[in-house]
Amino acid sequence: MPSDSEPKPTPKSEPRSEQGKATQIIHNRRHKDSFGSPYSPVYNTTTYRFPDTASLLDVIEGRTPGNLYTRWGSNPSIRELEQGLACLEEAEDALAFASGMAAISASLFAHGRNGIVCVGDLYGGTQELLTKNFQPLGIPVTFLLQHNPEQLASALSNPGMLVYCETPANPTLAILDIQKLAEQAHARGALLAVDNTFASPINQRPLALDADLTIHSASKFLGGHSDITAGAVMASAKRIKPIALWRKNLGQILAPETAALLSRSLRTLPVRVRQHNENAMKVANAMADHPVIEQVLYPGLPSFPGHASATRQMNGFGGVLTIEIKGGREQAAKVADSLKVFLLATSLGGVESLVSQPCNTSHHSISREDRERRGITDGMLRLSIGLEDASDLIADLNQALNQL
Ligand code: PLP
Repeated sequence: MPSDSEPKPTPKSEPRSEQGKATQIIHNRRHKDSFGSPYSPVYNTTTYRFPDTASLLDVIEGRTPGNLYTRWGSNPSIRELEQGLACLEEAEDALAFASGMAAISASLFAHGRNGIVCVGDLYGGTQELLTKNFQPLGIPVTFLLQHNPEQLASALSNPGMLVYCETPANPTLAILDIQKLAEQAHARGALLAVDNTFASPINQRPLALDADLTIHSASKFLGGHSDITAGAVMASAKRIKPIALWRKNLGQILAPETAALLSRSLRTLPVRVRQHNENAMKVANAMADHPVIEQVLYPGLPSFPGHASATRQMNGFGGVLTIEIKGGREQAAKVADSLKVFLLATSLGGVESLVSQPCNTSHHSISREDRERRGITDGMLRLSIGLEDASDLIADLNQALNQL
């Protein structure tokens, strides 16, 4: 039934407020109905009925606002979520997706067809999308291990290319200077997209640092409870519009139920992220001098190579840290298997703490030589620090480490 007319742009966020993010995200677009419910019901609907053809045409031809078909993003629960997402990143507009990979692929299709230059480490799924899906389509993709201005300048050979990065990166937590990357990308006529999943919008807002697109796996901190698979892109309305067309025609919309659950999660995001930051800092400090740990990678530690950049561009250092166990793969696996509070699972950003060994999970498909070139060793364990009592997390790690 939907025609191929352009999708309706998603609603713009409210004008910037002087209020803090915690207040804004709770009171942002608060629902008003005759029952007095402070929050909206879930609009579990695929389609919308009209009293007559003239009213339907008014909506489909853009003369009156209205909803037509949920796959287009035209659904009150999804639009309300998008308003919250835009508010958090202080973006003009936002789009919600069925997964982080959906958000990434639609963004790359919309803005990366002239060529994509990736800087630094990427999530394994993004790497696979680029090498196994995009490159075979003839889209030029270049991977640079770090931000080297000469290499980036020569990689940005065509006008209208896209620079793509993650910071902090997985699992090394390496930090890229977003403002410097944006400056160089713009000088060569390119856009900059930043996957902001690890930081969350509470700790870092790439758009305020001149990036053009911020992308999230909302399955992580935004959802926060390991029970939602979703994604998000935040940008100016001009950059969002072509992404919305890909989302519509690739059918990447999320379910209204999921949108409502994610809206609920956003209301506690500021307080959750503050606690993730605090717990991670305590765990990082407690692990820093442990005799069986080779190194602790956490942007909040003054000894961390990216600490100065992280301090400049982040409001908090995040809930993920990586420890490298002396002795390598087997010893690290033994620690992971001995943990009792941490769950052995490959995700991050939930209320529960998780441990994963990158060489056996996120970076399993990459050769050992390639991993080591990227500074990812077999002895590394990535810890997603949850909202348990930090003392229990430290005690759990100590009992596991002491078994070596
Ligand atoms: N970006 C990063 C940094 C991730 O860690 C992940 C998943 O782990 C994704 C994107 C993909 O997100 P999703 O699993 O929601 O598709």
